[in-house]
Amino acid sequence: MKAAVFHGVEDIRIQEWPQPHCGPKEVLVKVSYCAICGTDLRIFYHGHKKVNPPAIIGHEITGVIEKVGESVSQSDFRAGDPVTVVTSVGCGHCRLCQRGWYNLCPDTRAIGYFWPGGFAEYLLVPEEAVAQQAIIRLPEKLSLLDGTLVEPLSCVINGQSYLNIRDGETVVIFGGGPVGLMHACLAKAEGASQVLVVDPDFERLERFGKKFEGLILLDPKKVKVKEEVARLTAGAGADVVITACPVKQAQLDGLEILAGRGRISFFGGLPKDDSLITLDANLIHYRELSVFGAFASNRKDYLKAAQLLVSGVIPAEKFITRVFSLEEIVEGLHQIKQGAVLKAVVKIDSVKKGIKEE
Ligand SMILES: [Zn+2]
Ligand SMILES: [Zn+2]
Repeated sequence: MKAAVFHGVEDIRIQEWPQPHCGPKEVLVKVSYCAICGTDLRIFYHGHKKVNPPAIIGHEITGVIEKVGESVSQSDFRAGDPVTVVTSVGCGHCRLCQRGWYNLCPDTRAIGYFWPGGFAEYLLVPEEAVAQQAIIRLPEKLSLLDGTLVEPLSCVINGQSYLNIRDGETVVIFGGGPVGLMHACLAKAEGASQVLVVDPDFERLERFGKKFEGLILLDPKKVKVKEEVARLTAGAGADVVITACPVKQAQLDGLEILAGRGRISFFGGLPKDDSLITLDANLIHYRELSVFGAFASNRKDYLKAAQLLVSGVIPAEKFITRVFSLEEIVEGLHQIKQGAVLKAVVKIDSVKKGIKEE
């Protein structure tokens, strides 16, 4: 089969690769689309400890079931079903896995990291993943293209599940990439009356963010975010902050602008060799602030994400601004890095040229 194989930093090659064989407890998917995630970008430019080259990355996958292993219950899936696949695969045995929190398993082996991912013509869903119900059948009304947003949106849903956003609240999001803007749309849908999105790459934020109604876009190079939040909340501060970026200062600034009983999600991780911050614990103490983490997602978040895409709460067409062919994947990575596209999707079974321009 044809695959985009990651051989090392800034080295992805389109080449022939052995097509996986579908064992009795596995499921083979013919990949239709795989979106490029910020993590794919990091792997391409910096490498990743869980990705051992040569490897096939990509985890925002949709496709059609090609073959169902003979020991897999045929009532669950049939050849021809349109599906996506949950990224996190747990060990299946530990306490966290038993609660269904596969994303938090200490031995989690994710698809597109440990297991080969979606930038190839076929994807083998490993036995463990099949057993953990990682295969999600896409709703009829969700296209295979738009279905690539189920994975990133599921992570957003998991993150916000801790935050309890209520009617009339003010939410501030640091980071205006696709995930930050998904957070913004979801926060509005949850009832937030003011949603502010902050990003120093203000050009990109304005170009893509202005397509979403009712967001307040801030350029931190031009305005003081703290003052702006105070002005918009009559001095009270933000109820919720989400850091959808790998930036320490956003976490620190975020804590400072919270109102009493405010909640903050450290949604974006920090670089692994630079993850210590010094924060004012008394801010948390006196204001009764809550600090939450969020990492990846699980099946139930995928199911909700698919529904939010079908209902249009998350307007897929405003997020996917460009589709690349598999041959153009490196170009896609470059364009994301340059901020020229919001969400880029790779069409796996296409031959040439992008089919959707911004
Ligand atoms: Zn992702
Ligand atoms: Zn486990």
